[in-house]
Amino acid sequence: MVFLVLGLILATVAVQVYRRVGDFVSAANWVTHSLTVRQEITDTLAKLHDAEASQRAYLISKSPERLADYSAVLPQIGDHASQLIDLVSDNARQSDRARELSALIHARLQRMAETLQIFERSGLDVARNSEQMSRSRSEDMQIDALGRNMLRLEDELLTTREKQTSEQAMLTRVLTVGAIVCCMAMLVFALFLVLREQRYRRASMEAARSANLDLSQSLEEAQRLSHALRQLSELGEMLQGCRNISEAVNGIEVSMPRLLPGYSGSIGLINASQNLVETITYWGSPPTDESALFGPDDCWALRRGHAYPLAGSIPAFTCRHLEPVLAERPEIGHLCVPMVAQGEMLGILTLTCEHAITSEQRTNIVAATEQISMALANLKLQETLRTQSLRDPLTGLFNRRYLEASLEREVQRAERRGLPLSVLMIDIDYFKRFNDSHGHEAGDALLAQFGALLGRIVRSEDVSCRYGGEEFTVLMPETDIAQGVARAEEICAAVRQLTVQHRNQALDPITVSIGVACHGAHGRTPDELLRNADNALYFAKNSGRDRVKVGETLHAHTPTKERKRSSPAPIPDQY
Ligand code: GH3
Ligand code: MG
Ligand code: MG
Repeated sequence: MVFLVLGLILATVAVQVYRRVGDFVSAANWVTHSLTVRQEITDTLAKLHDAEASQRAYLISKSPERLADYSAVLPQIGDHASQLIDLVSDNARQSDRARELSALIHARLQRMAETLQIFERSGLDVARNSEQMSRSRSEDMQIDALGRNMLRLEDELLTTREKQTSEQAMLTRVLTVGAIVCCMAMLVFALFLVLREQRYRRASMEAARSANLDLSQSLEEAQRLSHALRQLSELGEMLQGCRNISEAVNGIEVSMPRLLPGYSGSIGLINASQNLVETITYWGSPPTDESALFGPDDCWALRRGHAYPLAGSIPAFTCRHLEPVLAERPEIGHLCVPMVAQGEMLGILTLTCEHAITSEQRTNIVAATEQISMALANLKLQETLRTQSLRDPLTGLFNRRYLEASLEREVQRAERRGLPLSVLMIDIDYFKRFNDSHGHEAGDALLAQFGALLGRIVRSEDVSCRYGGEEFTVLMPETDIAQGVARAEEICAAVRQLTVQHRNQALDPITVSIGVACHGAHGRTPDELLRNADNALYFAKNSGRDRVKVGETLHAHTPTKERKRSSPAPIPDQY
C-alpha cells in the first residue's frame, strides 16, 4: 500500500518533471526565437544602411564597385525583411510592425532607385536636392524608429521569456530534487521492508527451530517416561511375585539402579518398637553408619509423612541421618521418601545423586516407593499370617503342625548327612493342680513364661514347639544324646529357678519332666522318635517328676512301648 502511494507520487513527480522540462525547453526556444528576431531586425536595418552607404559612395565616387555593392545588397534586404515577417508571424503586434517595416523598406528602396535614376540622368546636385532625397531622410527616420520600436518590443519579450525560462529551470530543479528524494525514500523504505522481512524470517526460523527442539525434547521425555513406566511395572510385577521380604529386597537391589541410573539409595524399615530405622538393603554407594541405623526423628520425611526436601525448595533443615554425607559433599542431590502402606509407616527410601533431582525423576521415585511400600506391607502381612499359622499365640513357640514338618525335614537331613538329632519332650508337672489353685489365667501366664524361657535357653537352630496343653517339644539338630540330656537338665534347672509372675504376684515354683530321644539310637522315623521321647517322659513322670529320662534304645527293646496316653491334650480353642 505504502509502495503504491510512493509509486503514485513518483509517477506524478516524473510526469511533472517531464512536462517542466518540455516547458523549459519551449521557454528556452522562445528566448532563442526572440534573439533570432532581434538579430533579423538588426540585420535588416544593417543591410539597408549598407545599401544606403554603397549608394552614397557611388553617387560621390561614381565608382562601379560601389554600385555593384549596392546592387548586391538589395536582394538581401528583401530576404531579411520577408524572413523577419515569417519569424514574427506568431506575434500579431510584431507581425504588423514587421509588415510596416517591410513596406517602409520597400518604399525606401524605391526612393533610392529613383534617386539613382535622377543621378544617372541629371547628376549629383539634382539628385541631392531632389524630392526623393528629402523623402528618403524622413523614411530613414521612420524605419529607424520602427526598427527600434520592434527591438524594444522584442527585448521586452526576451526579458519575459528569460524570466519564464529561469522559473521553469527552477521548477524543474525542484521537481527533480523531489523525484530524487522520493526515489531515495522508496529505496530506504524498500530496504526497511527487506530488513524487516529478513528479521521476520529469522524469527520464524528460530521459532520453528525451537518448536523442533521442544518436539524432540518432549519425544525424548515421552521415551524416558515410557522406559521409566516399563521399569516401574517390571518392579511391580517382580515384587508381586516375591514370596518373602528377603526375595523382595534382592529384587529391589537389582531394579532400582535400572529405574534410577546414577542414584545411590537405601531402604530402611522401622523396627517393631518404632524406635529405630534399620537399613535392609542399599544400592550404589554403601550407607554411612549414621544412615544405616537411626531414629525415626532423625529424618524429616518420616517426621512429616511426605517426601523431603519438598519439590523445588531448598531445605531449611538437613535430615540428621544424611548429615555426614551432606557435610562432605553439600552439592549432591538427595531425597527421603517415607514408605507408607495401608496407613502404616513402614520405613524410608533414601536417595542421593550427583545432580539435582528433576521433577520427572521425583515422580518416578515416589511411584517406585509406593510400589515397594505396598509390596513390603503385603509381604509383611503374609509373613505375619504365616507365622500365626505356624506359631502358638500364647507361648510364641512353633505349633505342632510346624513341629511335624520340621521333624520330617530334620530326620531326613540327619539320615542323609549322618548327623545326630535329639528330640526333647517336656511336660509341666502337676499343671492341673497349678491351674486349679491359681486359675486358668495364671496357668496361661505360666505357659507363656515357660515358652519364653525355652526360647531363651535353646539355640537359634533348635525348633521349640508347644506340642499341646502343657507339653512341649524341642528338636535339636546336630545334637547327640549326651548334649540333648545336658540341655534338658539345663531346662529343668532353669524352670526350678523360674518365678511366675501373675497380677504382680509371684506364684508357686514349678518343675518339668523331660524325655529325651536321639535319632538312630531311639528311632529312625519321626513317629518312632516322638514316641520314644514320650515314653521317656512317661518314665520320668513315673520316676518322681522334675527329672530327665532317656528313651529306650531300639535294639534293647523293640518295638517301643506305648505310653498310656500317646497323644497330648489338644490346645483348647480359647487358648
Ligand atoms: P502331670 O504331672 O502328670 O503332668 O499332671 P498334670 O496335672 O500336669 O497333667 P494333666 O494331664 O492331668 O493335666 C493337664 C491340665 O492342663 C489339664 C488342662 O486343664 C490343663 N491345660 C491344658 N491346656 C491348658 C491351657 O492352655 N491353659 C491352661 N490354663 N490350662 C491348660
Ligand atoms: Mg500332660
Ligand atoms: Mg503335666
